[in-house]
Amino acid sequence: MIQFKQDIASSAEKKPLSLAQRRKRDNRRRSLVRVGIQIVFFLFAPSLFTSAFTGLKQAFTAIGGGAPLEFSGFACVFVMLCLFTVVFGRFFCGFACSFGALGDFVYFLRTKVEKKTKKKLPRLPKKLAGGLACLPFLILTAVVVLCAVGIYGSLSGWSPWDVFSMLTTLNLRLGRYLVGVGLLAGIVVGMALEPRFFCRFFCPLGAVFRLLPMLPWSVLKRDTDACIKGCSACTASCPVSHRLGTEENAGNCIRCDKCIGVCPKQNIKTVGRKQPAVALLLTVGKAAILFLLAFLLHAVRFF
Ligand code: SF4
Ligand code: SF4
Ligand code: SF4
Repeated sequence: MIQFKQDIASSAEKKPLSLAQRRKRDNRRRSLVRVGIQIVFFLFAPSLFTSAFTGLKQAFTAIGGGAPLEFSGFACVFVMLCLFTVVFGRFFCGFACSFGALGDFVYFLRTKVEKKTKKKLPRLPKKLAGGLACLPFLILTAVVVLCAVGIYGSLSGWSPWDVFSMLTTLNLRLGRYLVGVGLLAGIVVGMALEPRFFCRFFCPLGAVFRLLPMLPWSVLKRDTDACIKGCSACTASCPVSHRLGTEENAGNCIRCDKCIGVCPKQNIKTVGRKQPAVALLLTVGKAAILFLLAFLLHAVRFF
């Protein structure tokens, strides 16, 4: 009883959190929710990326071969993810794609090594990174052309995403995929060099998402006039180096929401931003809708 009274008294004496403390707490919650959602999708829906990509390849193979378009399960996942992206922005990329989550995890390990060794590990030169930004569109074009002329099937042993898909299902019969295994290993090394290495420089599916129109509420906005002079904290924290409010293509933003918490002026606008708890609920709600859709399309596995 005495302890209980002491607890009540100490909680009554608790000072309200300062703005900086509140921001730190909200950032921690935001990160926990993001990582939690990534883990759930990685464990239960790791094939969403490869299914959607297969849907895209099937469509162009059929078009090239003059065959009628079939609405297969893969095509349904592809169309669902495109529609979801139009409505909610690239939430799938920021929170639910297993390949994106792998990139985040590998880069997180790199930052841990840097902290432990107190040494900065190398990154790609900025000019090179900028120059590689158009590569996903070239890869997308190459995939589309190879599918349309009917050659892609014979190159499937080269596909790092097929290898990734097999690994997520613990299928280790990779004898036919040695080139793909080598490419995937190279991509993982790249993921340790740059945040979201594969997303930024190689992903053909990401290139499709970048081209899609997005509804206004799904796009983050920055009031550049109200920014602190010389500040670029949001861009520095962005894994894809997107400059909010200054780039035409909002599709480059993968909606990971990492920049929201770093702005000292709370100058990045999104639905529910004013109340962090509401914003978190909306995030969980979007994840739940995506998970349900994936479940209905048989893209969820329960081991
Ligand atoms: S860009 Fe590609 S790999 Fe990256 S999260 Fe999006 S779909 Fe996944
Ligand atoms: S602009 Fe913000 S939400 Fe968009 S990718 Fe960069 S950090 Fe993530
Ligand atoms: S962190 Fe905030 S103040 Fe700084 S540039 Fe970004 S939006 Fe502007």
